[in-house]
Amino acid sequence: MTFLKYDITWRGCGIMTDIAFRSLNGLWSVDQLTVEAISELVRRARAFRADHAHGIPSVKLLQGWTVALAFFEPSTRTRLSFQTALLRGGADVLDLDVARSSVQKGENIEETLATLSALAVDLVIVRTRDEDIAAYREALGGTPLINAGFGRREHPTQALGDVLTLYDAWGTLEGKVIGILGDIRHSRVAGSHLRLLPRLGARVVIGGPEDLLDRPHDPLSENIKRLPVDALVKEVDALIVLRLQKERLSEAILQRTREGDLAPQQYLQAYGLNERRWQTMRSERVVLHPGPVWPDGEIARSLLKEPSVLVRKQVTDGMWMRLALLTWLKEQWSCESAHSMSVDQAFKTLDPSLNMSV
Ligand code: ASP
Repeated sequence: MTFLKYDITWRGCGIMTDIAFRSLNGLWSVDQLTVEAISELVRRARAFRADHAHGIPSVKLLQGWTVALAFFEPSTRTRLSFQTALLRGGADVLDLDVARSSVQKGENIEETLATLSALAVDLVIVRTRDEDIAAYREALGGTPLINAGFGRREHPTQALGDVLTLYDAWGTLEGKVIGILGDIRHSRVAGSHLRLLPRLGARVVIGGPEDLLDRPHDPLSENIKRLPVDALVKEVDALIVLRLQKERLSEAILQRTREGDLAPQQYLQAYGLNERRWQTMRSERVVLHPGPVWPDGEIARSLLKEPSVLVRKQVTDGMWMRLALLTWLKEQWSCESAHSMSVDQAFKTLDPSLNMSV
């Protein structure tokens, strides 16, 4: 048996091969991560997970960090997942309770973020309905942020956790066909997957209600093909089913959720993963859903217990992946400051007579 604990301890700054996160002040898009970085995150998340399975407590790699969770939209999985990962890693956590905060007095998100930054926290994990990343970064000054779901844009840590689940299923995404089914237009989970999965070698196809398949705010690559739902379900190795984002629908579309093709039973028959479609899927397929699931809407309730429907595993994997990401970012950032400190110290020790102007 391999004791993996030693595999996830600090490995020094020599292995830094990635982009400079400190100068970018955080992670808001999967586009910021190289394929090598994603492999490292998968490796790390697996090591944390295996340690836990062997009863080895997580190494407190986040000790000394104070991290604020600032969720301006409801969340169960993502918030608790970040919180669990942070506590496992030994960080101190500040959970902004929006319902008891000055947001209720009309204070805006930027002002709240600026306040968190003024409290000298090390990192802010942000979820919002809005999508003005530039404004949040400006409000936070030099304090880094992690995107925990920005409106319809992206949800990078959900996508990373799902990538771990998919790698566990096959070992590689190369050549796999992955279908994304449902409300592509408003889903930030789709926003991240549509960027990330093709870079990892998968072919991505989409299906769902015709008028929810495009992303006017974030145009799709030409390589993403649309398929009728029945054809899509038959063709894929993995199906990522999305939640209908009712909170983001226009009044006209919302009306169809009360009476029309988006009402529960009609949705399941027209666009959802029902028993009939399930029977037509490949025998080795897996099914994912980021949650919360709308049973008998997006997926037939009876299918949720199937071993290849991996909704619970996604939650577990997402938490280990977040721990992997947080520890990795902390290392990246400390390596950068260690590096700039050593350059600084080097200059201080220079002989002034050399008259080096910098
Ligand atoms: N929990 C995910 C999110 O916050 C998926 C969803 O809510 O549809 O985006």
